[in-house]
Amino acid sequence: MSIEEVEVLVVGAGQAGLAMSEHLSKSDVPHLVLERQRIAERWRSGRWDSLVANGPAWHDRFPGMTFPGVDPDAFPPKEMVADYFAAYAEMISAPVRCGVEVREVRRKVGHPGFHVETSQGVIEAAYVVAATGPFQRPIIPAIVPDETEVLQIHSSAYRNPGQLPEGAVLVVGAGSSGVQIADELLRAGRPVYLSVGPHQRPPRSYRGRDFVWWLGVLGKWDAETPESGAEHVTIAVSGAQGGQTVDFRQLAAQGMTLLGRTKTFKNGVLKFAPDLAGNLAQGDAYYLSLLDEADAYVARNGLDLPEEPDARKFEADPPCVTDPRLALNLAEAGTTSIVWATGFALDFGWMKVDAFDEDGRPKHQRGVSAEPGIYFLGLPWLSRRGSSFIWGVWHDARYLADHISTQRKYLAYHPSSEDKDEAWMPD
Ligand SMILES: Cc1cc2nc3c(=O)[nH]c(=O)nc-3n(C[C@H](O)[C@H](O)[C@H](O)COP(=O)(O)OP(=O)(O)OC[C@H]3O[C@@H](n4cnc5c(N)ncnc54)[C@H](O)[C@@H]3O)c2cc1C
Repeated sequence: MSIEEVEVLVVGAGQAGLAMSEHLSKSDVPHLVLERQRIAERWRSGRWDSLVANGPAWHDRFPGMTFPGVDPDAFPPKEMVADYFAAYAEMISAPVRCGVEVREVRRKVGHPGFHVETSQGVIEAAYVVAATGPFQRPIIPAIVPDETEVLQIHSSAYRNPGQLPEGAVLVVGAGSSGVQIADELLRAGRPVYLSVGPHQRPPRSYRGRDFVWWLGVLGKWDAETPESGAEHVTIAVSGAQGGQTVDFRQLAAQGMTLLGRTKTFKNGVLKFAPDLAGNLAQGDAYYLSLLDEADAYVARNGLDLPEEPDARKFEADPPCVTDPRLALNLAEAGTTSIVWATGFALDFGWMKVDAFDEDGRPKHQRGVSAEPGIYFLGLPWLSRRGSSFIWGVWHDARYLADHISTQRKYLAYHPSSEDKDEAWMPD
């Protein structure tokens, strides 16, 4: 049986895989992108129906192409985001092969490179880039047993309110997914309980600029990877309804019941931590600190951006915050569904290489792994805060393509070669 050989194998054709392909092409590095489903599949079938991008079209895109037919300040619907990436792949003639799953990657013994098992045969590759996403395996904490009479789904399986049985819904987790799903269910007339943990809550916009702009000029997208073990704090933002600041007090005023962190379940009763007011205060502090930094930036640079004192006014805390509910009897509250918006884990079981620590976490520096020839792209905080976002992954991909290119130049060097000096010329 013949074995296909490729120089660089990129696994996954989401935004990360496509950005990698663009930069490898620019460096004339031959490569192949394998995608088990379709280009940008997660934007098509891995998200709820009404999702729009969390960032405006002018920002959440690659430098080489704008979103066609969209106001740059608008938030494109998810299908449009997927179409954008499919069009982008065509524009850069990315060598993507869809419908092929990579099942195993193993270092070749006594030879350079990797042996790759796919659903359509074996491939040998000198380099492998894992671009399989920042959000791979949904996590549902083991709190409510499966046999409990309530529908339990992860946010990645939520599609629309009509999918859930009649009755009240508990949404656990108030990051961008949880808060948007809870809001949609409330608008659909459902009684909604929202369990709110620690979060960051930036203003959607301030002094006439979207928060993505503020995070950019204040250098926050470039914030470096937090220490390993530092607690990840989710960010609550939304592009829904044209883009509004996430405001928990307003959601409560509209009828949503806010709860603290979900802790335990016994005899049909869920218990919550008494931390709701503290979590909201922490979110408020982040919000206000961003306004302070923005004001200082405006003053220091003498910018002409309109003042916005109302941004500092908060509604009074609603009763569900001042007198928080610490227990919820699901049956008595008529709660028929729980949506767990509790995040994702990585799953690299298919990579049988020495690039992981004892807990299975990738060992890497800016995506260059501990196993020479293996690269990671698109992971949260790969090099900085922006790494798992559309525009951020594009810059990380450039770094990895440069790294691969340099490695190839070392290997091309030979003392007896006439053009050995040429190898170091920039691409
Ligand atoms: C609800 C939600 C909203 C988001 N909104 C925004 C936003 O507005 N702006 C923004 O910048 N970011 C947003 N993000 C974050 C990020 O941009 C997305 O998660 C994005 O999909 C990540 O792209 P990726 O290419 O790294 O991974 P993915 O999109 O997950 O792509 C990975 C691809 O790899 C394929 N694959 C996986 N394993 C294999 C295998 N073994 N063999 C072959 N193929 C494989 C998958 O099928 C998939 O197509 C959002 C995330 C979520 C969850």
